[in-house]
Amino acid sequence: MAPSTPRLVVPIDPKKKPREQKLPLHNRWHPSIPPVADVMTGELFRVEMVDWTGGSIGDNDSAMDVKNIDLFTVHYLSGPCRVIDVDGIPAKPGDILAVEICDLGPLSGDEWGYTGTFDRENGGGFLTDHFPCATKAIWYFEGIYARSPHIPGVRFAGLTHPGIIGTAPSKELLDIWNEREKELQDNGFNRLQLCDILHTRPLANLPTLKGCLLGMIREGTKEWEKIAREAARTIPGRENGGNCDIKNLSRGSKIYLPVFVEGANLSMGDMHFSQGDGEVSFCGAIEMSGFLELRCEIIRDGMRKYLTPMGPTRLHVNPVFEIGPVEPRFSEWLVFEGISVDESGKQHYLDATVAYKRAVLNAIDYLSKFGYSKEQCYLLLSCCPCEGRISGIVDAPNAVATLAIPIAIFDQDIRPRKQEVPNGPKVMKRPDVLKCTYHGSLPITRNLATE
Ligand code: ZN
Repeated sequence: MAPSTPRLVVPIDPKKKPREQKLPLHNRWHPSIPPVADVMTGELFRVEMVDWTGGSIGDNDSAMDVKNIDLFTVHYLSGPCRVIDVDGIPAKPGDILAVEICDLGPLSGDEWGYTGTFDRENGGGFLTDHFPCATKAIWYFEGIYARSPHIPGVRFAGLTHPGIIGTAPSKELLDIWNEREKELQDNGFNRLQLCDILHTRPLANLPTLKGCLLGMIREGTKEWEKIAREAARTIPGRENGGNCDIKNLSRGSKIYLPVFVEGANLSMGDMHFSQGDGEVSFCGAIEMSGFLELRCEIIRDGMRKYLTPMGPTRLHVNPVFEIGPVEPRFSEWLVFEGISVDESGKQHYLDATVAYKRAVLNAIDYLSKFGYSKEQCYLLLSCCPCEGRISGIVDAPNAVATLAIPIAIFDQDIRPRKQEVPNGPKVMKRPDVLKCTYHGSLPITRNLATE
């Protein structure tokens, strides 16, 4: 007999708010957040998820919801799921949890998504000094394809994936996170010689009671407050996986996650219909609600066998994954180079961040010659399946980063040709992205967006 359909362990009603869902959601990492479901190794199970903002950003005609987003409430995660083997023994610290993504996609009846940039004073993004305004583009899904009324002239198959999948940290690991991130927050500006992108953005996102949601732990209780003060924010990826935003964690991929607590306590969320490498606009994938159909295996004592700690404790490890067999196929790419010399002409030493920034800016400038606004290009490069690489990291003083854009997503030939680019109002891609005005000042670099 055919096996039954995947067992639904976390249901979501996309019409309801995060706090009204049948099983409670959480938006922090902490070992004391109790599991909401048990799953067995080998069984196919289904987890549904709200979009990362829990429905705060809508399918409407304004970017005001992006501008005013409360970033203390993100990301809303489903789970944790406790993983138990066929003998009833849970995953143990030191094991590896192998999670296969057998299927994934948008929730039915909710087949749309959005890409945006945050206001420079509320979230910002990789290029926030060039693009200080909150913007938004809505995307509609047609099976495997996405198209946007706000970025006409492009259509592509999504490389769908969870932005976040991870195991719960142990208390020991959580303490390490909080200590090292606080140290960076306190002293980082003195030490870092990064380009301007960080100047209005927090160096780290430390624990806070504000907006904290802890699953089954009832809000306002003593226990809640104690956990909320320690619980790690979900913004950065860490040793447990988490918000790694890796576009290739798609259908058929398998991720090997270190286990730090009994049961592994697997959580997930932040589904992306599609995303480019780097997710540069920060609200930057095609963000959506969605589902994952998963199968887990436990590799006993796997951390000792396969993951070499590169630091002071055995906890300093990172996940490993296998790419799945199903990805959109693009054969032609236009690739933009960037080097570690910033927009002002300043030389940086082998800085891959500066080089990638330059590659993205070069691509935006180039594509805007084909009728797109610079905001349309920025959002598109953030969410279409483009490939970012560190192409060279040894040839001092310049790191070289490249950004490869699949040519086939455009309805026109974007390659350099002998003739003039057909520019002018006729070829403008309208309507443009939804855009708010920016009220702060822009002290640092020229504003490419308004040139
Ligand atoms: Zn996301």
